[in-house]
This record gives sequence, structure tokens and C-alpha cells, in this order.
Amino acid sequence: MVSEFDLPCTACGHDLARTTVATAGASGITVAECPECGTRHYPEAALENVETF
Ligand SMILES: [Zn+2]
Repeated sequence: MVSEFDLPCTACGHDLARTTVATAGASGITVAECPECGTRHYPEAALENVETF
């Protein structure tokens, strides 16, 4: 299964890095962030967690 972390940035093509975003009431979610341009790519699982807030 391909995850967001295996894909290049859709904006600049740079490899993505894992980063944790703080969320209210949770320890945070892990998203893929481009260290080059800052674009964040949210995994579907993370989005589902966000929607619960
Ligand atoms: Zn990028």
C-alpha cells in the first residue's frame, strides 16, 4: 500500500518528510510535509481524526 510518505510533493516534487501536527484534545497527528516548500499532505487516516474535533 502506498502512503503519502512514499509520494513526492505535488507542488515541487521534493521528497516528503513526516511531521507531527498538534491538535486539540489529542497528542497530534502525523502528516507528510514537504521540507522544500512547506506543503502538507494529510493522510486519509489523519483527516478522519481531524473531522472528529
Ligand atoms: Zn514541495
